[in-house]
Amino acid sequence: MTFSFDLTGKTALVTGANTGLGQGIAVALAQAGAAIVAVGRSNMDETERLCREAGAAFHSVQADLSSLDPIERIVTEASTLSGRIDILVNNAGIIRRADAIEFTEKDWDDVMNVNLKSTFFLSQAVARTMIADERGGKIINIASLLSFQGGIRIPSYTASKSGLAGLTRLLACEWASKGINVNAIAPGYFVTNNTEALRNDPKRSSEILGRIPAGRWGDPADLGGAAVFLASTAADYIHGIVLPVDGGWLAR
Ligand code: NAD
Repeated sequence: MTFSFDLTGKTALVTGANTGLGQGIAVALAQAGAAIVAVGRSNMDETERLCREAGAAFHSVQADLSSLDPIERIVTEASTLSGRIDILVNNAGIIRRADAIEFTEKDWDDVMNVNLKSTFFLSQAVARTMIADERGGKIINIASLLSFQGGIRIPSYTASKSGLAGLTRLLACEWASKGINVNAIAPGYFVTNNTEALRNDPKRSSEILGRIPAGRWGDPADLGGAAVFLASTAADYIHGIVLPVDGGWLAR
């Protein structure tokens, strides 16, 4: 049996790749040889520079994933710019913090729309192309520890990420026979915009750090190995897993 982590000749579409975990994943996939199509609503210059420094081709598609409006355009533009989409990383996500007792409908809908609804329909649109040419592909969803745990003050985020774990399993079951591997990565606590409020709260910050067996917050580069692995032929028989990359948090 042969397997490889080499992604040369593959195109990876990564949502929310301008910063944080999406940028770390895009750069890792670029270092493994993939061409990158970065999708998001923000400037991608820094990610473009890092991917090109890794020797990868790079394109970007401007799109706001808070609605389904851009979904078909994203797939069309990405295919035109870079050819077939072989790897989809559903990374774009938002979080809203408030006590459950006063959480608003807007904070519910906004989070569910980006984290779950757009993720499903972009996966559907990309999977249709992967199934149409019978070459399959890899879909990697960025889940969370809140796919396993409850947390506090983030009801729509926990619902979206728990839902994403279930969706990962459903899509894996439906599409495994089509040659598409659908899996998820559950990052622990990483230093990004998403966790800024936690890191700025001395009490929460030291509580979190004190529970991480590795003794440090994650760096976006820490996700690279898991992303490359799940995107590669080494993971061809892996379907429907949610892989924690959490410094040991869930083992505690
Ligand atoms: P971040 O806020 O730095 O990045 C979020 C990304 O999503 C940005 O690129 C942003 O532009 C994009 N995005 C948000 N709304 C969008 C929209 N409407 N349209 C297009 N793009 C949009 O945070 P991050 O930590 O890098 O988050 C990336 C993913 O990782 C998210 O799904 C998040 O839930 C998940 N995650 C993060 C952590 C952590 O500790 N940082 C832990 C677990 C899961």
